[in-house]
Amino acid sequence: MAKKKTTAKSQAPRSKRSTPARHKFIYFFGAGKAEGDRTMRDLLGGKGANLAEMTNASLPVPPGFTISTDACRAYFDQGRKVPAAIDQEMLAQLKRLEAASKASFGSSSNPLLVSVRSGAKFSMPGMMDTILNLGLNDVTVEALKARTSNGRFAYDSYRRFIQMFGNVVLEIPKEEFEHELAAVKRERGVKEDPELNETALRDVVDRFKRVVRSKAGRDFPQEPLDQLRLSRDAVFRSWQNPRAKEYRRIYEIPDHIGTAVNVQMMVFGNTGDRSGTGVGFTRNPATGAKEFYGEFLINAQGEDVVAGIRTPRPIRELETVMPHAYKQLRQITTRLEKHYRDIQDFEFTIQEDELFMLQTRSGKRTGYAAVMIATDLVAEKLVAPKDAVMMVEPEALSQLLSPIFDPAEWKRLPVATKGLPASPGAASGQVVFTADHAVEWTRQGKSVMLVRKETVPDDIHGMFVAQGILTATGGMTSHAAVVGRQMGKPSVVGAGSLEINEHAKTVRVGGATLKEGEWLSFDGLTGEVKVGQVATKPSEIIQVVNGQMKAEKSDIFKRFNQLLTWADKVRRLGIRANADQPDQAEIAYGFGARGIGLCRTEHMFFGEGRIPIVQRMILADNEKDRRAALAELLPLQRGDFYGVFKAMHGSPVTIRTIDPPLHEFLPKREDLMVDLARMDAKGETGPSVEQKKRLLHRVEQLHEFNPMLGHRGVRLGITYPEITEMQTRAILEAACKLTKEGLKVVPEIMIPLVGDVRELKDQKAVVTRVAEEVMKEQKVRVKYLVGTMIEVPRGAVTADEVAREADFFSFGTNDLTQLTYGFSRDDIGKFLGAYQDRRILAKDPFASLDIEGVGQLVEMGTRKGRQTKPDLKVGVCGEHGGDPSSIHFFDKVGFDYVSCSPYRVPVARLAAAQAALKQKALD
Ligand code: PEP
Ligand code: MG
Repeated sequence: MAKKKTTAKSQAPRSKRSTPARHKFIYFFGAGKAEGDRTMRDLLGGKGANLAEMTNASLPVPPGFTISTDACRAYFDQGRKVPAAIDQEMLAQLKRLEAASKASFGSSSNPLLVSVRSGAKFSMPGMMDTILNLGLNDVTVEALKARTSNGRFAYDSYRRFIQMFGNVVLEIPKEEFEHELAAVKRERGVKEDPELNETALRDVVDRFKRVVRSKAGRDFPQEPLDQLRLSRDAVFRSWQNPRAKEYRRIYEIPDHIGTAVNVQMMVFGNTGDRSGTGVGFTRNPATGAKEFYGEFLINAQGEDVVAGIRTPRPIRELETVMPHAYKQLRQITTRLEKHYRDIQDFEFTIQEDELFMLQTRSGKRTGYAAVMIATDLVAEKLVAPKDAVMMVEPEALSQLLSPIFDPAEWKRLPVATKGLPASPGAASGQVVFTADHAVEWTRQGKSVMLVRKETVPDDIHGMFVAQGILTATGGMTSHAAVVGRQMGKPSVVGAGSLEINEHAKTVRVGGATLKEGEWLSFDGLTGEVKVGQVATKPSEIIQVVNGQMKAEKSDIFKRFNQLLTWADKVRRLGIRANADQPDQAEIAYGFGARGIGLCRTEHMFFGEGRIPIVQRMILADNEKDRRAALAELLPLQRGDFYGVFKAMHGSPVTIRTIDPPLHEFLPKREDLMVDLARMDAKGETGPSVEQKKRLLHRVEQLHEFNPMLGHRGVRLGITYPEITEMQTRAILEAACKLTKEGLKVVPEIMIPLVGDVRELKDQKAVVTRVAEEVMKEQKVRVKYLVGTMIEVPRGAVTADEVAREADFFSFGTNDLTQLTYGFSRDDIGKFLGAYQDRRILAKDPFASLDIEGVGQLVEMGTRKGRQTKPDLKVGVCGEHGGDPSSIHFFDKVGFDYVSCSPYRVPVARLAAAQAALKQKALD
């Protein structure tokens, strides 16, 4: 789902304004006219805005009114009390609703019944509360019976209302009601709810009323207006329930915006066999295929479809059952798709053959479907390429890169069962039955598969960490399916043959009984479930980029590429990758990176057979020995640089001189001590013992209390200039070689951790001296740049001075965040969770740039640097270079490029295009 970026950190919804007199809080819709429209999502929430829009389009929408998010904020501002003025306004709107529906609250002949539903600006499926059938009481239930000639239906509606009201408003646990319902079924010897007749349901109603009296200490309110006020307030309150808060945390939805409440005339899908209810999509939300897609239930209320209690029927069967309503539904939804120019997700109810639309909104879709739909809509001329670029969440592209099963491996296992393919992707994991276990096991480093009868909104934390979600009941629009899809999590739902015993922690599938911890795999694109672990393999897109598959053979690759080509046309930012090896550089180039923003040379030191040479260099206690070891490293580094340059086909390559503290290349002090103790116990002597002792001595010498603030970065180059010399020589020799071969190279040598211009000046002198030497030796000239990372706050603050010596700046936002916040980048995990729980931090500042703090340094560093050198090249190579919201900021600040890991390059290309389009819209 859309990741809603925000910097809001407050707890409760807040009203920006005080409550002025005659401020409008409630918006009516009905009889072909609405006071709101689709542009008013902030105020009316997504659902309210779309109900208004549909009403204005003369679609069959039951009348109602939307109590705005302003009212919700006022409710929280006033200590959880609705101001009297809003209550007055509600009474006036209720009168209009009574007129429009030709029914009235509490009437013994034609009672008005309403639904009360939450509806925030951003969809939060199932996280907040809903109450249906409001207005029923001991009198109106009889009127409903008379009107429908269906006593069973009337009393079933009444008992549902008491149950929902009791649970949501009076906070009585659901089980209290379920227990009574089960008792009545037992006494009457029936199994399923629909088998209960009117008399039985009257009994249920009486029992439910007694539950309310004993658990809530009050009678169930008979007055519809009381019911409405209490329900409205409960829905406001549900904005702050733990699962809604958790959902907002995950999707970065601001806490202060609050929810709207929609009060709407009830229509019933459960009055008999000429009624029904359903949900659907104008296209397939999992694959993007252009097919009318959805499901329905005859004789049911909406909640029955989404709750996953009954497995619904495919929507095409509606054509046979109710051809007229089906035809009308097709026409309306086609119109809606054209109107909104996007896939629509809709809800409808058919009451006695009459169709009503209850909701429409842009459909949540998988990353795969997002790319399919965006490219199809352009082909259908419904949207322009730049609209298509805006329609796909950058993060969705990373879903397309996620692994798939190796078909040969997958075929080896028999299909144990099949469910509905709710969200594509290959998942293989150890079975767990609760969300808490999923989290616990994942923390222990295990891959888990969350297996549930059906998921509930409280499972969100477990769903978030699981490899895949598998449920026994529910349809494609059940909670598990909707949430799985928006998380981009492979999901299979409604695998009816699964027998789950949550108590015994076992699941029976295809004749086998699996205990918790055993392996299960499924394919989210086909719905096939298999027992065992199956290896995964790269997605088609990765295969094309790797050269294992021809681009023409992959439809999804072609579309992916098309979308990114459109993105490239509008973006301003250049996209580079962080890569240290030629093969990584090739992947990055394949994904569209046109340059390397950071080549961490020390990673090359870890290559095969190199560590002993690096260690000899570190152990050397004189310059001569150190130079000897460096001379051995020189040809190896030269070879690496040659490969990386070549893979970039003439795009610039930024190579950073050595950065980490030297002890990182040596064994751990404790391990050496243990080894020596063992050797001693065995009575060993000789050169190997001596060598170990020397190593231990050097490790102890290099020990630092704060290595991140210690002898690293430019400080190493200053104390051991011969390292900088060797690296410069390797870079220039490789560049000269390629130049002689007639290839273009653009080396950019980058000095890390500079906080003072004099540090840079010192190292630049070494670099230019050696570069001149090499070019003279090689008899060829290569254009190269010398620049610096800006990753120490002092470097940013004095950027005007630093720029005097630098050809370019690259912001190292990893260290800059570490040094600005004073949070250790390696230890933040210990307290980040607590910070997020308490809303001190909305997001991890190492993943998404802290714009208010670190961002100021970035902005200041760029501005001051360009004061000195107006055309100073500026980019970023910290992790933030691949984060969409950070990319928006870098675009605004005027960076030339962002650099990220090779696999993030597509995400960055798309995010950069969106940033440019948004900026253009503002200009
Ligand atoms: C940085 O600090 O942002 C950076 C890119 O360097 P490293 O992560 O290697 O410290
Ligand atoms: Mg750094």
